[in-house]
Amino acid sequence: MNLVLLGAPGAGKGTQADKIAQEYGFLHISTGDIIRDNVVNKTKDGLETEKYVEQGKLVPDELMIKMVEEYLKNIDQSIIWDGFPRTLSQAEKLNKILENRNQHVNLVLYLKISEDKIIERIKGRLVCMKCKRTFHVTIRPPKIQGVCDFDHQPLIKRSDDNEEKARVRIKTYCNETEPLIGYYQAKQVLKIIDSDENETVVWETINQAIESTLKE
Ligand code: AMP
Repeated sequence: MNLVLLGAPGAGKGTQADKIAQEYGFLHISTGDIIRDNVVNKTKDGLETEKYVEQGKLVPDELMIKMVEEYLKNIDQSIIWDGFPRTLSQAEKLNKILENRNQHVNLVLYLKISEDKIIERIKGRLVCMKCKRTFHVTIRPPKIQGVCDFDHQPLIKRSDDNEEKARVRIKTYCNETEPLIGYYQAKQVLKIIDSDENETVVWETINQAIESTLKE
């Protein structure tokens, strides 16, 4: 199964992807995490992608797709796609990649959220660099301040998680990624999730959507 999580930055894609991975045993692929790992490790791809991330822009399709294809080698399990595709051309390419694996996109969960909520979530977001889980200073605080609940590593604030960069990222999202909503709606695989709702309600709706897709 291939499940795509679509939504603005801060919509909760990473959090929900982690829960889905845990509940259903799918592999969580976050292109943002792949990029950040490359940046930290100062790889050739990391050095090339860093400037785009810092400006809130998208990494060019060709380079992003190359990194995804590289990552997919030796992976043969159900996948949650978090942050990919982000452009129509990436969506077309993903179809081709999956076709070659006799697969397709089974379900797209569009996490719909208001701009005010996005900024609130992004400004308070903290990330564990080891397990990549996210916390929030007030909405989902860790048990010990600044420390990951799961592996006790320090939590960090992403360099692009401030209000100014968040607004640029939202604009990039509106211009480049939002057209994917209509694209997947036309393919009848899109399910809209109201991400302004509380976590329990959001999770229940996601669960129902996955369960009914698994039964198809
Ligand atoms: P995220 O962790 O999903 O918020 O992604 C952080 C940043 O990584 C984005 O603002 C982009 O600069 C870059 N990025 C992540 N995924 C993609 C993608 N599919 N295409 C292009 N750039 C991406």
